[in-house]
Amino acid sequence: MSKVKSMAVVATEVGKISIQEVEIGDPKKGEVRVKVIASGICHTDLGAINSAFPPEFGLSYPLVPGHEGVGIVESVGEGVMELAVGDKVIMSYPSCGVCDMCKKNRPWACRSRHQLFFGGKFADGTKRIVYKGQETASFFGQGSWSQYCIVAERNAVKVDPDVDVKMLCSLGCGIQTGFGCVVNRAKPEPGSTIAVFGCGTVGLAAIMAAKATSCSTIIGVDQNEDRLALAKELGATHTINTKEVEDPVKLIQDLTGGYGVEYTIECTGVPVLLEMALNCLDQNGMSVIVGVSGTRSINVQPEPVIMDPSRTWTGMVEGGSIPKVFIPRLVQLYKDGKIPLEKLVKFYDFQDVEQAIADTVSGEIIKPVLMMPE
Ligand SMILES: [Zn+2]
Ligand SMILES: [Zn+2]
Repeated sequence: MSKVKSMAVVATEVGKISIQEVEIGDPKKGEVRVKVIASGICHTDLGAINSAFPPEFGLSYPLVPGHEGVGIVESVGEGVMELAVGDKVIMSYPSCGVCDMCKKNRPWACRSRHQLFFGGKFADGTKRIVYKGQETASFFGQGSWSQYCIVAERNAVKVDPDVDVKMLCSLGCGIQTGFGCVVNRAKPEPGSTIAVFGCGTVGLAAIMAAKATSCSTIIGVDQNEDRLALAKELGATHTINTKEVEDPVKLIQDLTGGYGVEYTIECTGVPVLLEMALNCLDQNGMSVIVGVSGTRSINVQPEPVIMDPSRTWTGMVEGGSIPKVFIPRLVQLYKDGKIPLEKLVKFYDFQDVEQAIADTVSGEIIKPVLMMPE
């Protein structure tokens, strides 16, 4: 084994990206090096480029974004047991594997998640990418906007060789997050009522999950008519355009016999919508926060809003997914037509990354996917 040269998108400083040649080191113990086929663009990547996370998360530049990568294992490090050269993999979020949360099978709550997601280093505290002689961060333990990347074996999920993995990038983050927060956290019984705030990748995945779990009333809430139309196609029974409806909470109550929905999934992080997602709940209802709100806050009176109506207000990272268990299930659901990713995905040549990012920001494309050069 030896280092490989790789063309990669490098954030050389805050807010500035360009395609550069980097060197990818050898996979260390428990790691594999992947020849990346494709990688999705997630809003969290844009947060990394623009330094949108608290300083204590340890973001540093230069940095290679990308955390929805798929590809082929090119080489394996010492002690790798489950993966071999040539295996097709979907890469997912990192976790340390040794903290108490990981040992309890709750890797989404890993004690080291901030450093591993955002700090650009691997579990041993070192980096794997070199750009112009500088040690360079791998975002989310991947840095998959690159022809090659290093990933820990525990975060790479092997899939059947016949699976067209370029369609499945978002199973590693966005889809897993939205689908998982419904099936792993809300756990609606068949016939339940649910509203999903924000109909991007995560929200649409939550709508697919609501349909797959036989929710009866599924309300998609957004301000973009195209996204709401797609929400309907994917299983929403009703949609609400917040630009047009004056009182969405009242409308949700009207759609549910005056009571409100049993579950809400909040994917936007926008304070006014976080509040709505609580206020439109029925008694004993549950609101799951998935959206990134940063330092913004909302005013909630605990007694009338949470305690007296016996509601649950909760959050979930990465859909409470154990990637090696959950992603194969999502792959099967894709094969069964229950996660029709072809309706969300648009492919971009690697050199068109700026356009792909612009289409992510404008919301024109739900899930842009960068195709890596050979
Ligand atoms: Zn851990
Ligand atoms: Zn993501």
